[in-house]
Amino acid sequence: RIVYVNGEYLPEAEARVSVFDRGFLMADGVYEVTSVLDGKLVDFAGHTQRLARSLAELGIENPMGAEEWLAVHRELVARNALTEGMVYLQVTRGNPGDRDFAFPDPAVTKPTVVLFTQSKPGLADNPAAKAGMKVISIPDIRWGRRDIKTVQLLYPSMGKMMAKAAGVDDAWLVEDGFVTEGTSNNVYIVKGGRIVTRPLSNDILHGITRAALLRYAAEAQLTVEERPFTVDEAKAADEAFFTSASAFVMPVVEIDGAKVGTGAPGPVATRLREIYLDESRKAAV
Ligand code: PMP
Repeated sequence: RIVYVNGEYLPEAEARVSVFDRGFLMADGVYEVTSVLDGKLVDFAGHTQRLARSLAELGIENPMGAEEWLAVHRELVARNALTEGMVYLQVTRGNPGDRDFAFPDPAVTKPTVVLFTQSKPGLADNPAAKAGMKVISIPDIRWGRRDIKTVQLLYPSMGKMMAKAAGVDDAWLVEDGFVTEGTSNNVYIVKGGRIVTRPLSNDILHGITRAALLRYAAEAQLTVEERPFTVDEAKAADEAFFTSASAFVMPVVEIDGAKVGTGAPGPVATRLREIYLDESRKAAV
């Protein structure tokens, strides 16, 4: 595999990042994941816009403009002959040459940029979307700026392990009685034909797939209510699903052992997955 590190395309075994990099020592960095379908980038503009916002919120200089980001993504997709999968991009505050809590002088320490691809055949034609996923609910004990897409992913990883230990696919995070989001996705329920999802705030990541889904839902004349919902409400819903760049729209059929609706993927989630895949293939760059 060919990866990108600070301006160079290298075989992965030759790629190097310093042990003093603040991404490694402090989780001081942000990332994006963009899906690739038919060799093209899905929702690309949204991902570069969110990257710019995450960097600005942390005071890290954006090393590239939108056109340059696109060129690097395309070059990496081409060099790896990637047709279906994803491009991972990470920007950290860089390597100050020492460990110190205070941020280094940005005039001296430049951000570290790493990109790599992961091939995932069957991303679009995913059997999990036909079966639906099972989730458990766990407390959301993450920090208060979940709108910044940082590489600080320890608790979401622990959440995945809790799900695995419970024999299910993922965990939904709960704060003050309300579901915030999944370990790596935005969550929705459907009741009486209305789609309910938590409004944007610092409490959740502003999903790029979420933004696209809400556009497509409006175009399809589906009613969306942006408000928090509880786990009990989700268990009593007709349908549940989640969205993310790598799972697209994924039906959820069980929460904490309780069947959602009929216990099979519902018509709204199934239709939205089809619309999302059709539209995002058309809009891919
Ligand atoms: N919430 C969290 C916590 C996530 O990690 C992700 C995916 N990285 C999402 C939501 C979904 O965002 P997107 O649709 O942009 O992938």
